[in-house]
Amino acid sequence: HEETLAVIKPDAMGEHKAEVEAGGFTVTQMKEMVLSREMAEQFYKEHQSKPFFNQLVDFMCRGPCLMLILSKVNAVEEWRAMMGPTDPAEARNMAANSLRARFAKDILQNSVHGSSDCQHARDKIHLIFGEVDPE
Ligand code: ATP
Ligand code: ADP
Ligand code: MG
Repeated sequence: HEETLAVIKPDAMGEHKAEVEAGGFTVTQMKEMVLSREMAEQFYKEHQSKPFFNQLVDFMCRGPCLMLILSKVNAVEEWRAMMGPTDPAEARNMAANSLRARFAKDILQNSVHGSSDCQHARDKIHLIFGEVDPE
């Protein structure tokens, strides 16, 4: 099995817990937290040169997020597939059943995050949860 970090973003707290389990993922750790600015900047540091970086950080700090470590065979790719494309307009065309097609408001407030590869998953799990016992 593989692990990925899933984040239910502030715009979608509440709607997603049931979806995760319906997708066949095991939740190995979970916590609700409000990210500090520093944590949010660190979390999205790959995007610090993007024009939307400040908006993204403001959005991520504005309320609680639900942080989940999800475990499943091929978890990284499967969770990304369940999320759908970044922009919900594209998600509604390309992946009508995806979480973003159903729950995202716009390209910024797009309801969920998922690690893009295993290294990214390990880094961000460490950032959010600290050291985690291997499964
Ligand atoms: P995430 O990294 O949150 O899983 P993603 O990989 O689909 O989402 P990224 O390209 O990594 O998308 O962008 C990170 C996040 O930044 C997006 O999920 C979205 O919330 C926000 N974002 C991306 N592009 C824009 C944009 N053009 N304007 C505003 N916000 C954006
Ligand atoms: P994903 O979340 O699909 O991995 P990215 O890593 O490219 O997408 O972007 C990270 C997050 O930044 C997105 O999930 C979204 O919240 C935000 N984002 C991406 N593109 C835009 C955009 N054009 N305008 C506003 N927010 C964006
Ligand atoms: Mg991304």
